[in-house]
Amino acid sequence: MHPQSEDYWGNVNCTGIRACYDESKRLAETLTYDFERQYGLEVRVVRIFNTYGERMQANDGRVVSNFVVQALQGIPLTVYGDGSQTRSFCYVADLVEGIIRLMNSDYSQPMNLGNPGEYTVLELADTVQRLVNPEVNLVFQPLPKDDPRRRRPNIDRAKSILHWQPLVPLEEGLSPTIAYFRDRLAEDEQLAK
Ligand code: UDP
Repeated sequence: MHPQSEDYWGNVNCTGIRACYDESKRLAETLTYDFERQYGLEVRVVRIFNTYGERMQANDGRVVSNFVVQALQGIPLTVYGDGSQTRSFCYVADLVEGIIRLMNSDYSQPMNLGNPGEYTVLELADTVQRLVNPEVNLVFQPLPKDDPRRRRPNIDRAKSILHWQPLVPLEEGLSPTIAYFRDRLAEDEQLAK
């Protein structure tokens, strides 16, 4: 479903390479609502879409951290597939604000939180190149199996119930993210001396 709303039941491959990740998110929601029913527990469920920002792990394999770290190191950015797949990238401070608002509300159904601005992976690569290092090249690698073609949240529910929407545009959020990774890499270099 695109853009994805909270009514979507999640059609995933339950035996594929991403299955333990996809299914674990579904199971977490199932258990949460069982606890609500069985023990009368108050629950909140956030469906977090792609998020980036300071304090990401440099090596966790996410596209934003990979591209930024590669560009800072002057090595080619690894684009999987032809880079035409899309994602929407939410800056961490926006996400945290949404989570706090949900926790302080009395809304217990699932809530999408993410940035509805949609970019291709190639557009992200171009932006990181331009902001960090225009000299750096792109290298195309195979697309991982079951990699979603498009992903964008429908955030109408968050807008109407939490009066929330992301405020930080991609380039504005990339700037402190890049500064963060630049510092981390400089620290690593110091340690290696
Ligand atoms: N991706 C890429 N190069 C990388 C890492 C990821 O082209 O070095 C692509 C990946 O195939 C996917 C998108 O970027 O299409 C987002 O990947 P990520 O792992 O950040 O998030 P998710 O796949 O969970 O949306």
